[in-house]
Amino acid sequence: MPYFYFARMRDSVRWALWEFVMRASSYLKGLYNIYNRRYFNGKLPEDTRLYFVPKIGKSKSAEKSNCAVTYIYAEGPPAILIQKTKFKSMRYVVADLLHEMSHLSKPRADHGKVFQGEMKRLADLGAFKEVW
Ligand SMILES: [Zn+2]
Repeated sequence: MPYFYFARMRDSVRWALWEFVMRASSYLKGLYNIYNRRYFNGKLPEDTRLYFVPKIGKSKSAEKSNCAVTYIYAEGPPAILIQKTKFKSMRYVVADLLHEMSHLSKPRADHGKVFQGEMKRLADLGAFKEVW
């Protein structure tokens, strides 16, 4: 479906379609809720939508291809998309999830100092203990 149509749909319709195409992941949502409580004092949005997707972006260069992405909307809940391939172990999925949750925690930080500080904070709390 051309993006043009997708962008013009009402939010409720768009989410229904999104849900159908991507299959919201209850597994990711479970992890998200646990990490939100454990590492963010439950301060991240409760209604964040989480999806496993087969592919993110169109770039073929390894450097530019993203493994996960977070969308923050002016209206409605944010969405976290995590690429899942058969070669990617759950440890990488968890690492991606924590990375994206840090974006939600520091929405304007990009990957700069503030973001790095947030990742360091998670590491100090032991969030990456079984992930590395
Ligand atoms: Zn990032």
